[in-house]
Amino acid sequence: MKPPAKISPATLARLAKLGIHHRSDLLLHLPLRYEDETHLAPIATLQPGMNVQVQGVITHSAVAFRPRRTLVCRLQDNGSELYLRFLNFYPSQQKQLAEGKQIRAVGEARMGYYGLEMVHPKCRAVDDDTPLQPSLTPVYPTTAGLSQAVLRKLIVNALDTLPLAETLPDVLLQKMKLAGFADSVRLLHNPPPDVSAASLEQRSHAAWRRIKFDELLAQQLSMRAYHRERGKRAAPKLAPQHRLTAQLIKDLPFALTSAQQKVYAEIGRDLAQPHPMQRLLLGDVGSGKTVVAALAALQVIENGYQVAFMAPTEILAEQHYLKLRDWLAPLGIAPVWLSGSLKKKEKQLAAERIASGETLLAIGTHALFQEQVSFHQLGLTIVDEQHKFGVQQRLALRNKGKLDVGRAASTGSGHASARHVGLKPDLQMMEPHQLMMSATPIPRTLAMSYYADLDVSVIDELPPGRMPVVTKLASDTRREEVFAKVRVACLEGRQAYWVCPLIDESEALQLQTAIETHETLRAAFPELKVGLAHGKLDSAEKARVMAAFKAGELQLLVATTVIEVGVDVPNASLMVIDHAERMGLAQLHQLRGRVGRGVAQSLCILLYQQPLSELARARLKIIFENSDGFVIAQQDLQLRGPGELLGARQSGVAMLRFADIGTDEDLLNHARQAADELLRDFPDAAQGHLQRWMANKHDYLHA
Ligand code: ADP
Ligand code: MG
Repeated sequence: MKPPAKISPATLARLAKLGIHHRSDLLLHLPLRYEDETHLAPIATLQPGMNVQVQGVITHSAVAFRPRRTLVCRLQDNGSELYLRFLNFYPSQQKQLAEGKQIRAVGEARMGYYGLEMVHPKCRAVDDDTPLQPSLTPVYPTTAGLSQAVLRKLIVNALDTLPLAETLPDVLLQKMKLAGFADSVRLLHNPPPDVSAASLEQRSHAAWRRIKFDELLAQQLSMRAYHRERGKRAAPKLAPQHRLTAQLIKDLPFALTSAQQKVYAEIGRDLAQPHPMQRLLLGDVGSGKTVVAALAALQVIENGYQVAFMAPTEILAEQHYLKLRDWLAPLGIAPVWLSGSLKKKEKQLAAERIASGETLLAIGTHALFQEQVSFHQLGLTIVDEQHKFGVQQRLALRNKGKLDVGRAASTGSGHASARHVGLKPDLQMMEPHQLMMSATPIPRTLAMSYYADLDVSVIDELPPGRMPVVTKLASDTRREEVFAKVRVACLEGRQAYWVCPLIDESEALQLQTAIETHETLRAAFPELKVGLAHGKLDSAEKARVMAAFKAGELQLLVATTVIEVGVDVPNASLMVIDHAERMGLAQLHQLRGRVGRGVAQSLCILLYQQPLSELARARLKIIFENSDGFVIAQQDLQLRGPGELLGARQSGVAMLRFADIGTDEDLLNHARQAADELLRDFPDAAQGHLQRWMANKHDYLHA
């Protein structure tokens, strides 16, 4: 083997920008695309959109100044002509492209102002017998100051000097019909002459499939490792007693849907295991997750353990509190309310009741539980609207020692602290079960990849009798008509939401807009009672407004997106979303889910301002045409990619570089299966594989 090439510090810095920190990262820095310089296309045969190499003589070369300084050349071969245009060019290039020179140009042909043209083609001077490239030329993702040639040299050197060990056992390769790792990597960097360009371009070639599989497998392995490791940890066994749960089911004013029964059965089984449950309950807005949470809570309570139920906002937490208080009162269970608006004394009292074990159910916001609340014997934490927390946050919370909601919560993970002293020895090792709920319908493939550490239950049916919400789009110029609709609905005894425009840039501006909108609408509807709810209200005030709206004392509620999650007021049947073009699909879907909860036909009006960006237009079309959250999420995935959808881009969760969970679902399925097999039968191989793909990337290049 050759010695590795020396790399200058400037180049190292540029490589780091590309995520290349380790010499072996070069091996997996794979081409973005390929250029075909293996043959020459006669200019006469060019069609717009063709990516080709042509050869000819420059018959004209001049700098044009309008609309901006441009070098325009005419290239002729056998009497046919093609224009070459360069917006940025050096004098040396101009010389290379002088009249009479023979050159080869590689690029995409398109229809331009003068006719068929290539913009910024790759050009080089040739003579009649300059040989053609024997194979496709890779084009790598790169960064300013790092040329393809330099990058290419480093990669070739890495291929020559580093081992390309196979991480997967033979049986697996055969079973999954996978190409070898070394062959695949070599082929992608140096495609042989006979390989189909299309299969490389579309990444359907066996070599690409192997790389994508490897990447997905690494992701699955790391997530599944968490999943399996859970099986070694201890949690209280809380088998169904069918006492309180059966009572609630009997008392409910409705029958559970079969989907609700199914997911409760899954949760109930998990709770009876001696290992911590970590289950994600997915169900579209209005599918009835709260009652499932209540049943889970009751199963824990009837075993004498405590439950912590958290929601991301005060409004939502309080709504849960009120609902569960009513449902559970006949069972003799009074939940404790943990709210920011409680007086210090009340908070203390609540904390004491939780710590003593006198109360078995505590409901509140997430933040509150993270303060000093100790549980006597915590058996289950329920986190509602978990999508409000990113993947990263979720993993961080878990790694930090569970949700840190008390003493039992932190044990068993090496984080036992003085707070835990005095626990019964058997409890010392226990941690609570966890149920996470989300209404962001996550496409199945996303759930399988990014939530592979969790078990997932899906409520895939809505309670009967729901009438779909009618959605209308209205340009802002029709504001008056929309006002009239609001007036009529409210005067007929129904209620309406008016959702204020989203102002991303500034919270202060957002608040100001909400207050102004409220003023405007109050002036527009003197005959109606108009309330205002926004994120900056203190929690007592917020609770008062929501209670008044719920009680029907307010007819129109002007609100910021604080109402996006979970709010449940069945009599509200009209929603206007102002500047809907500014909102994301998940948000629009969540907002719209606030209506259509009662018996009246509901209407959601999306008010938009012209002109619409292409993305906004696409979003509005999707939300207008679809009501199924899973379909919307799937389309959102296509529109935005998984990073945005999971809110993970900012939080730095490693996204997939090669695989595309939109199109590689089959590979994902294989990878998922392979991950379990590897972890079970070939733990060393699993380790090696993870090392390659996820190794902590230190400054190995410097060594
Ligand atoms: P989400 O899944 O969005 O949290 P909720 O739990 O708030 O939904 O339920 C939405 C509404 O549907 C609530 O008013 C709830 O009481 C009602 N509900 C739940 N399950 C059923 C059911 N099986 N039949 C009829 N109504 C139901
Ligand atoms: Mg809910």
